[in-house]
Amino acid sequence: MKKHNYSAGPCILPQEVFQEASQAILNFNDSGLSILEISHRSADFVSVMEEARELALELLGLQNKGYKALFLQGGASMQFLMVAYNLLEKKAAYLNTGTWSTKAIKEAKLFGELDEVASSKDKNFNYIPKGYKIPSDADYFHCTSNNTIFGTQIKDFPETDIPLVCDMSSDIFSREMDFSKFDLIYAGAQKNMGPAGTTLVVVKEDILGKVSRQIPSMMDYKVHIGKDSMFNTPAVYAVYVSMLTLRWIKAKGGIKAMEERNAAKAKLLYDEIDRNSMFEGYAAVEDRSPMNATFNLKSDTHKETFDKMWKEANINGLNGHRSVGGYRASMYNALPLESVQVLVDTMKEFEKKSG
Ligand code: PMP
Repeated sequence: MKKHNYSAGPCILPQEVFQEASQAILNFNDSGLSILEISHRSADFVSVMEEARELALELLGLQNKGYKALFLQGGASMQFLMVAYNLLEKKAAYLNTGTWSTKAIKEAKLFGELDEVASSKDKNFNYIPKGYKIPSDADYFHCTSNNTIFGTQIKDFPETDIPLVCDMSSDIFSREMDFSKFDLIYAGAQKNMGPAGTTLVVVKEDILGKVSRQIPSMMDYKVHIGKDSMFNTPAVYAVYVSMLTLRWIKAKGGIKAMEERNAAKAKLLYDEIDRNSMFEGYAAVEDRSPMNATFNLKSDTHKETFDKMWKEANINGLNGHRSVGGYRASMYNALPLESVQVLVDTMKEFEKKSG
């Protein structure tokens, strides 16, 4: 029986995508070949790559606006350094909202001066700092839109004249926004977009080519753009499954429809966290992420009982990250509302039993 999968990433993808993706392993496009055994230069795969890149721009509303989409490797973690390699000449400004921002900062420091404009480390990253100033002489400002581990999300992005760079790994394609505010967006595929192994980078071309250092080819966005994301062998299967997932998002009504689905799921769960006498939310209410809901038991006395109950309810992946403890329910695009209902019912039952 299919589990209710709350895994934080890699995570649930649409069931239709799993079906089609598994078929392509046996016989891709009725070619008599598996997608795993064809050349990445074959017409069939080149069209997958092109469609994936086009769909990404289309869904974000960034077609014909000077942006290029790339599917690279090395995860979002590679982008921590690639961003700095390509954009940091003298100084960069970073907002520190959690583990991933901290790691991005560490890498960028290797390339120049770093101004940490604000941090929520003082409260173990359970909120998003506000009212900070972004220095106008920095080469760019970097932030993390959704903090996967702590369950916080930036709702209002700052206005700034310098290039805006954002790690959207855990909430890309989940909510509507004016994406043209951003000059560079990156996201590891393995949440809302596809399997692990590829990373989407959407970059406004005119911010590139401004640093004086030499950039190794594999680290250079311009090289990847020049080769249409095929400078070397791409992560063929991960790009293919991402393309199927992007098609699914479009067919369901695009980001707008995803946002509505996600809002309904988040309301159902957060309402229960707030109502249920056994639990308390971790993240500051106004900064709560619809993607990753973090919550704790008020007392650990009945922890074993609750853990047994959710496992028996066929729920997977509810344990919180070790740096927060408690529970984390990741509710990415593909998670159905019914799965959230099962979790909420389990929480209610637990309260009746142990409260
Ligand atoms: N940024 C965020 C917001 C993430 O959630 C993650 C992974 N969970 C990363 C970066 C790192 O991604 P990767 O493992 O693809 O390098």
